[in-house]
Amino acid sequence: MRIAVPREIEMGERRVALIPDTVSRLTKQGIEVWIEAGAGEAAYFSNADYEKAGATIVFDLEALWGSCDVLLKVKPPQRREDGRHEVDLLQSGVTLISFLDPLGNPELAGRLADRHISALSMELIPRISRAQSMDALSSQASVSGYQAVLIAAAASPKFFPMLTTAAGTIPPAKVFVIGAGVAGLQAIATARRLGAVVEAFDIRPAVKEEVQSLGAKFVEVNLEEDTVAAGGYAREVSEVAKQKTQQAIADHVKLSDVVITTAQVPGKRAPLLVTADMVAQMKPGAIVVDMAAEQGGNCEGTKAGRDVVKNGVTLIGPTNLPSSMPVHASQMYAKNLLTLVQHLVKNGELLLNFEDEITREACVTHAGEVRHPRVRELLNQMATVG
Ligand code: NAD
Repeated sequence: MRIAVPREIEMGERRVALIPDTVSRLTKQGIEVWIEAGAGEAAYFSNADYEKAGATIVFDLEALWGSCDVLLKVKPPQRREDGRHEVDLLQSGVTLISFLDPLGNPELAGRLADRHISALSMELIPRISRAQSMDALSSQASVSGYQAVLIAAAASPKFFPMLTTAAGTIPPAKVFVIGAGVAGLQAIATARRLGAVVEAFDIRPAVKEEVQSLGAKFVEVNLEEDTVAAGGYAREVSEVAKQKTQQAIADHVKLSDVVITTAQVPGKRAPLLVTADMVAQMKPGAIVVDMAAEQGGNCEGTKAGRDVVKNGVTLIGPTNLPSSMPVHASQMYAKNLLTLVQHLVKNGELLLNFEDEITREACVTHAGEVRHPRVRELLNQMATVG
């Protein structure tokens, strides 16, 4: 069995799907690994490191994509500068494992099915304890939560920790984290390590204890409706609940030096939680880091990939935060892929057993069909409209 890893072509993407350490684990199991020349360069893994780990460095793109059994990627395949789509470089029957954004980009699933590619989406790995070490959404979200705090600390005109100096005493910064999922909890932990006083809010009441165990204060709001969907994710709440949330968080936003928003509802636009009015009430010099900027934003006025200044408050809308820490983000992602591949390989061959929950849930396309019901529905809607 041959696994191929190409160089990521998305602008600004510095991660790589496998790092040398994971390559050597695969090659020791008799699996052949081909790495595109320079694939790890932006994450500081050289061709020589991969060769030492037992990989073959491949310069010929057609050979790399066209003669593998399994292709591992970070970002969904896309059209290349030379006009060819990466999916069209794959032979039919190949298994592709990558982030695929199946709900945001169902056309890609359609293209993969047409090419008879078996595609497993890292976004769809079920959040069950058996699959924890394959959970790339979690591993990459922790990187993002950490990075968001560092960005805020660097942009803030104030110290995070309390300082008692000969030049006077400096009070600690007040940080408010909205959304206490994986990224939010990592943001809380990082802000606490930097010495800030941290408050956090989430519509899932179950996170209260986790927030408190990290030394932050949990802002309680009784929404009087079910806020948790299948798999432990948040569900979209009613208009009444949204207004109640906004009222409850307004004072906390106003008094914060830094607000970090991470709230997401899978498959939906990110909920708008921090309004323009709330931003107008913040102190000049305050910072908002909106980690949901690419999904529409939790804060009114944030722009993905840009800094916007409103009345002295800087709204930062970072994109692809994991890529800005490519060594550890790649290391964690590669470990997620390694565990998944090892789970799928039986007697040296990759087998898709749909009786297995992980395979069944993560597989978007197989044998010429889009298997994921919601993605199929989205494609049908597009076909009707088109
Ligand atoms: P996510 O990125 O989808 O959302 C981030 C956070 O935003 C969530 O905590 C969510 O509750 C919150 N949110 C949504 N709407 C909100 C609103 N209107 N106001 C405030 N907060 C709002 O979530 P995630 O970090 O990927 O994970 C969510 C949950 O999935 C976890 O906390 C856990 O229950 C579950 N999970 C399980 C495992 C596992 O068992 N292996 C691993 C990771 C996550």
